[in-house]
Amino acid sequence: MQENIQATPQGNKIQKITKEQYDVVIVGTGAAGLYAALNLAPEKKILMLCKRELLLSNSALAQGGIAAVMSPKDTTDSHFKDSMVAGGYTNDPNSLRVLVEQGPEDVRKLLELGVDFDRNSEGNIHMTLEGGHSYARILHHRDSTGLAIVSRLAELVCQLPNVEIAEHAMLVSVTPLNPGFSILCMDQSDQLVSVCCQQCILATGGIGRVYEYTTNSAIATGDGIAAAWEAGASVTDMHLIQFHPTAFAGAPGRERFLISEAVRGEGAILLNPEGERFMPHYDSRGELAPRDVVSNCIIKEARFLKKENFYLDITHKDSDYLRRRFPMIYEKLLEEGFDLTKDHIPVFPCQHYLMGGIDVDLDGQTTLPGLFACGECSHTGVHGNNRLASNSLLEAIVFARRAAAVINASEPLDHPLQPLPIPVQGTAPLARGIRTEIRAIMQRSFFVTVDYTSAKQGLQRIREILHSLRTEGHPITRDYIEAKSLCIVAKLVLEEVLKD
Ligand SMILES: Cc1cc2nc3c(=O)[nH]c(=O)nc-3n(C[C@H](O)[C@H](O)[C@H](O)COP(=O)(O)OP(=O)(O)OC[C@H]3O[C@@H](n4cnc5c(N)ncnc54)[C@H](O)[C@@H]3O)c2cc1C
Repeated sequence: MQENIQATPQGNKIQKITKEQYDVVIVGTGAAGLYAALNLAPEKKILMLCKRELLLSNSALAQGGIAAVMSPKDTTDSHFKDSMVAGGYTNDPNSLRVLVEQGPEDVRKLLELGVDFDRNSEGNIHMTLEGGHSYARILHHRDSTGLAIVSRLAELVCQLPNVEIAEHAMLVSVTPLNPGFSILCMDQSDQLVSVCCQQCILATGGIGRVYEYTTNSAIATGDGIAAAWEAGASVTDMHLIQFHPTAFAGAPGRERFLISEAVRGEGAILLNPEGERFMPHYDSRGELAPRDVVSNCIIKEARFLKKENFYLDITHKDSDYLRRRFPMIYEKLLEEGFDLTKDHIPVFPCQHYLMGGIDVDLDGQTTLPGLFACGECSHTGVHGNNRLASNSLLEAIVFARRAAAVINASEPLDHPLQPLPIPVQGTAPLARGIRTEIRAIMQRSFFVTVDYTSAKQGLQRIREILHSLRTEGHPITRDYIEAKSLCIVAKLVLEEVLKD
């Protein structure tokens, strides 16, 4: 879906990583990585890595918007409560307080930086409603908010003289040097490069590609989470995975196009395979119940009716308004042969978001001093067991800014660091189909609900695959790195699922 994304400005992009030492290495150029770079002090020498093009990320796919309390009629208590209700009251109240109270300031900063959010006819920011929010507090840029945010942030980061951006540069591993880190990565020409830094920020996004069907971008293979875990950082709650209820189900392919929550926010209803509205029978909030509730209801209804063809219907709304409000969704669906203004749109749940991840404190600091994580790869606890719509872009920027502030305040090292030598590589060819096998295991074992028999058998097989990946002496290639990441992610998810 995102394959044609072109990187925007050239600015400070580098073709080769030539320096051995940086103050900070940021892995990832989504909302979290870019906002961290903008908030780091200008005297910091920064290297940013992204494994594909600059703008290929989950951030760039975000449609609905970013939630923040911007109106005097709205309150942070209400945003806090809505997030708690969605998260089943398992959210970390301290990190959630930080999110809802500091988020509006960061959103104002985005406005100052020139991010283009939609405005109403009076020139005020247009705020919309999404499932689980009790107030219209979602700022958006039509239905492609994430791209509007990251393309503006990328434009600004590309002008920073203290930052070097290496595209198609893939993190392989992070090794603590106590102090500092040695970072092994694969550069644009597939050469291994070792650099060191005082601090490292992991902003590598989600894990969607561990499933057969996901809304996530091709980069979402959990590489940062796997690298942090291998380095000894604490990673938890990996089973807290959000399955979005309304991914487009009318086309083949792994990356499923999301029909944003905002479409239900604007009045769309869900129809079962018999063409009947069913959500109100399960939940008084109907289609605007939180995502986990709606996904579970679809699965229950599908099992009851033994059919999976569900639909979203917003044909009762004015067609000109729909085309203006959802231009990107409208166009994408037309390409697939569906007219949002006239047709019922086939939808079904699919993997969407990870609530767990690398454990961090309120400043994005992991359990390894100097290693930070922010955005979707991190586990701040703000989402509890189910993320409230549009809270993740907010989480990405709030905690990225806080991590940058701690790094800015840290004392520089009084001695140079030395990166570790490039490891000697094996020559054993990697077996084909490993990633496909892992995805099939995950889809069978844990999709909205858990199949415990499949999960037990699956975990055993995943452990075998991981053992062979680690011991059979394969060369380090992009395929190898991703296969190992997916294997570690699958292992961590299934271990948590089977814990109770
Ligand atoms: C379809 C869709 C719609 C969404 N809609 C919304 C929404 O409306 N509102 C909302 O709040 N949230 C939404 N989300 C969730 C939100 O977009 C993400 O959670 C958030 O943007 C994640 O940002 P991030 O910076 O952590 O990661 P990403 O934006 O995914 O960026 C990850 C970066 O890490 C890099 N990377 C990964 N692995 C490596 C490696 N090994 N080496 C080097 N670089 C690496 C990638 O190249 C990329 O640059 C949506 C998600 C999807 C998929």
